[in-house]
Amino acid sequence: MAQLIPYDDRDGYIWMDGELVPWREAKVHVLTHGLHYASCVFEGERAYGGHVLKLREHTQRLIDSGRILGFENPYTLEQLEAATNEVVAKNGGGDLYVRPLAWRGPEQMGVSAQQSRIHVAIAAWQWGAYYSDLRLTRAIYDRPAPSTAPVHAKAAGLYMICTLSKHAAEAKGFGDALMLDYRGYLAETTGANLFLVIDGEIHTPTPDCFLNGITRRTVMDLARKRGVPITERHIKPDELREAQEVLVTGTAAEVTPVRAIDDTNYQLGPITGQLMDDFRALTRGREMAA
Ligand code: PMP
Repeated sequence: MAQLIPYDDRDGYIWMDGELVPWREAKVHVLTHGLHYASCVFEGERAYGGHVLKLREHTQRLIDSGRILGFENPYTLEQLEAATNEVVAKNGGGDLYVRPLAWRGPEQMGVSAQQSRIHVAIAAWQWGAYYSDLRLTRAIYDRPAPSTAPVHAKAAGLYMICTLSKHAAEAKGFGDALMLDYRGYLAETTGANLFLVIDGEIHTPTPDCFLNGITRRTVMDLARKRGVPITERHIKPDELREAQEVLVTGTAAEVTPVRAIDDTNYQLGPITGQLMDDFRALTRGREMAA
């Protein structure tokens, strides 16, 4: 296994509560509410050639996720966008992964923390492909119902079942887990949205209990431009057997073909290939081929 470079021991700068601080100095106290009670929301963004793709959408989602968790981000949309651009430039620009987060600080301990200060940080680093040769297995946890958790926030607490599911999948030799929802319908992987191609048409689960990913919406637009019919609906796991292609989308994952789900194998088919090409053209700033 490659040598791990811990994330607290790297070169660069992190924007934290309004100023750029040297990477190794961007620290929090152990009695931070966000650490104990998951009162923390975050984003995952990618900069291509120094420009963050869909910066407005990601920044708005960070603010909205905080509101869903009952707090107001102390910075405006414009201030957060400017800070993100500053972090990207300060860390060398180019192709970077960007991680903004907002959390409740150490002013109060205990479940209630209404008076806690909201802290914000933005980091950026080089991060290559998220998945390679992706094989999925059924997750050990399901996506919770909207009445069980704030499912439309990109909230740290929701990732507890993702990390556990992904670890269990990795222990079985798979790259990630395929999560069903609380009703037993197909949902997503632990960090990306799911698409099936059945007889030349795209089918994707309705995002009513998981993130309607920004990449998901971008890829749906790309498919529409190519005239590929798309249906959003509740999809049963059995329907995976009827699919000729399966793919996942996400900021980190970009557009990734799924090679297998448990013992069913899939080819990298023409629709997935086209979407990968179109997404690459979009992120590399080239005009999409007609
Ligand atoms: N689902 C989950 C659980 C995720 O973590 C992500 C990544 N943010 C996505 C879907 C895809 O969202 P996006 O395309 O906005 O990155």
